[in-house]
Amino acid sequence: MSDCIFCKILAGEIPCKKVYEDEDVLAFHDIHPLAQVHFMLIPKKHVESLAHCESVDQAILGKMLLLAPKLAKEQGLENGFRTMINTGRGGGQEVFHLHVHVFGGEKLPHM
Ligand code: IMP
Repeated sequence: MSDCIFCKILAGEIPCKKVYEDEDVLAFHDIHPLAQVHFMLIPKKHVESLAHCESVDQAILGKMLLLAPKLAKEQGLENGFRTMINTGRGGGQEVFHLHVHVFGGEKLPHM
């Protein structure tokens, strides 16, 4: 996916502030944080959005969700955090490579 910014991060063509990496997943801080702590988990496989996931993606979805609390704790979010997956333009998605946002730090507004 030559025009995908997150694939460019995965390829090392664009730098990132890495939080975590394994063979399937990369986590890095958002360049425009919307909270004191704001990072994202992405699959290494290019999947456009949650709406493009298929049954073969079940394991990677589970892996990202299970990593979220572990990484949130490592980032100092002892009291909780918020996850968000924007899906499609109507869902506010701007980067079309599946990502799970994790927010925390100061108390987040209720929504
Ligand atoms: P979306 O609206 O859910 O698609 O969120 C995309 C997120 O990617 C936004 O919060 C952007 O700030 C973030 N973002 C875009 N480019 C970069 C980058 O190069 N590094 C880190 N985060 C990025």
